[in-house]
Amino acid sequence: MNAPLLDVRNVTMRFGGIVANRNVSFSVARGSVTALIGPNGAGKTTMFNCITGFYRASEGQILLNGPAAQQDIGTLITRPVTGGSHLVTRAGIARTFQNIRLFKEMSVVENLLVAQHLVTANNLVSGVFRTPAFRRAEREAVDRAYHWLGEMNLIDDANRLAGELPYGRQRRLEIARAMCTGPRLICLDEPAAGLNPSETHELSEVIQRLCKQHGQTVLVIEHDMGLVMRISDHVVVLDHGEVISDGRPEHVANDPAVIAAYLGVS
Ligand code: ATP
Repeated sequence: MNAPLLDVRNVTMRFGGIVANRNVSFSVARGSVTALIGPNGAGKTTMFNCITGFYRASEGQILLNGPAAQQDIGTLITRPVTGGSHLVTRAGIARTFQNIRLFKEMSVVENLLVAQHLVTANNLVSGVFRTPAFRRAEREAVDRAYHWLGEMNLIDDANRLAGELPYGRQRRLEIARAMCTGPRLICLDEPAAGLNPSETHELSEVIQRLCKQHGQTVLVIEHDMGLVMRISDHVVVLDHGEVISDGRPEHVANDPAVIAAYLGVS
């Protein structure tokens, strides 16, 4: 059997006396959609923050399996990072946020170019931006941006200001921006929050296409159970920081422990 792309092993995350995640273990298979679900306060976003390098787990390991060797994300991140982690992006993990974080005063396509870090203080100083290699990289970045705009059904919006897009399109733009970094794993934090039924339907098609056509591995936190059941290959349920169920969507939906957690029965 293939090694999973992501392997979360016995992760505990404490904030002082609060234990947000306790001994959490699960894995994410390559090319699959895995959903992380659970009632409010279950520890889902904290887990995402550990996986994406915003927090360093108090205990345990998070392993991203690469083609050659395993990379322990925990050893790449030596301190909590806020506002995004270049180290985790470089390791091949991209994410979107519960609250949309776009550059609203920039155009849609500019949001995707900025995400590709084409211009850094370093290459401005060194003048690398005047070289043929840089111009080639620039063309590739533009091609990549338009490719993902197409995949997210946003081509016609390329030159609009990001802040002017309807909410559902802003959500898809966030996914396009994450995909422009060429991630091995994309983590989506409540992508359907605030969407109407037709926007949710379009989102589910986009996520399924990412996975089935592009072999993209997706980890998603979501409260919309209809969407979770439609798009997921595998569901992990957290409650009070611990994994209470893990398996195929139909298994999890019928698990008495999950039903009790959602009904608030202890
Ligand atoms: P929701 O579905 O409401 O977004 P969640 O499952 O994502 O919830 P978390 O946001 O991970 O849950 O929170 C899990 C627990 O950890 C909660 O009790 C929360 O108050 C606590 N917590 C999260 N972040 C911090 C922090 N930075 N400092 C202290 N406690 C925190």
